Amino acid sequence: MRCLALDIGGTKMATAIVSENQVTQRKQISTPQENVVEAMHQTLAQLLADYAGQFDYVAVASTGIINNGILTALNPKNLGGLAYFPLKQSISKHTSKPVLLLNDAQAATYAEYQLQDKNNIQNFAFITVSTGVGGGLILNHQLLTEPNGIAGHIGHTVADPNGPVCGCGRVGCVEAIASGRAIEAVSKQWCDPCDPKEVFARFRKMDEKATALVSRSAKAIANLVADLVIGMDVQKVVLGGSVGLAEGYLPLVNKYLSEMPEIYRCPLDAAQLGQDAGLIGAAAWAQTQLTHLE
Ligand SMILES: [Zn+2]
Repeated sequence: MRCLALDIGGTKMATAIVSENQVTQRKQISTPQENVVEAMHQTLAQLLADYAGQFDYVAVASTGIINNGILTALNPKNLGGLAYFPLKQSISKHTSKPVLLLNDAQAATYAEYQLQDKNNIQNFAFITVSTGVGGGLILNHQLLTEPNGIAGHIGHTVADPNGPVCGCGRVGCVEAIASGRAIEAVSKQWCDPCDPKEVFARFRKMDEKATALVSRSAKAIANLVADLVIGMDVQKVVLGGSVGLAEGYLPLVNKYLSEMPEIYRCPLDAAQLGQDAGLIGAAAWAQTQLTHLE
């Protein structure tokens, strides 16, 4: 089956035809930033017209929370005017084919899980450490997406009850400590301010302040991994995102994990699929949903 896959991010949208995990006719455009509701309806109409006749179903991986086809978020302000956008309805106006949607990190989780030894790994997690911290959970071989689209928002578990207030309104979330945005919130206050990329460059040169800041992030992620292991018997975790994949970061998370009692540990690997994980994961997950419906 041929899938028209859409990956909708805060700034960019990727689209492609995905068949048997192969991505073809990939296009990338900017996510509408002005007059967003009308512009998004028009963008989707145009995409469906561009790919007309080339697909059997549509799969969407989107930033935020997809609740019954409607786009929302823990902090709806992050979506600007797109909060509560009726994503499924807007697409279905232009095609009679099935339209399935899920969160982008959930989609990436599903894609990365396909690369694992699935007979031996029934509980699996993906964590993306980037501007924010997101993730997805596979339990008993099934990706958790229901009932409200929330599962996998593990960046909003607590890392430090005395930590900074998170964008979601809770105090001390992992995201408020480990994310690129959290790193920048500290590094821009330095007497020699810099962005997260430069923080990592200084960390690799063993700069003391940068090392402490990156370590604080890595320790929060190590604790998150340990919580997933002890809470859900997660057997393997894959780490992605610009911070998660930054040189030297994963070994540091592993170091903190290795300092914990053995029962809290599990194998930790780098994500393999990169920028197409959302497209591939959405297409593959949607296909299994359609097969179940038949
Ligand atoms: Zn939060």
